Amino acid sequence: MSDPSPATPLHVARTRAVVRVSELGQVFDAIVESSAGVNMDDEHDPEGSTVGFERAQISALLDHARTQLAELDAALDRMRSGSYGICEDCGDQIPPARLEAHPAARVCIACALRR
Ligand SMILES: [Zn+2]
Repeated sequence: MSDPSPATPLHVARTRAVVRVSELGQVFDAIVESSAGVNMDDEHDPEGSTVGFERAQISALLDHARTQLAELDAALDRMRSGSYGICEDCGDQIPPARLEAHPAARVCIACALRR
């Protein structure tokens, strides 16, 4: 029996991203819940504006985590189609060390610097 989910750096990173999106989603929901029923008049309610600020911060982190997850999913698609680890710009092999540090990398270091 072959392992259906090999622990490549890409799979590990994707699992982490899924956990992160889920955790941030829970934090976001908790903030929304705790602010429900709070006076919505932010301007005159210092507490309300703090909640708004926190919510905006978590929302930005959540967006970022979702973007990362989408990039990792795209990388997994490339792995399935056999184009994973090949630079999109020059067609060279992306060094394994770079893929370990950035599993969703689409270009080699030289091309990344040129961009
Ligand atoms: Zn390249």
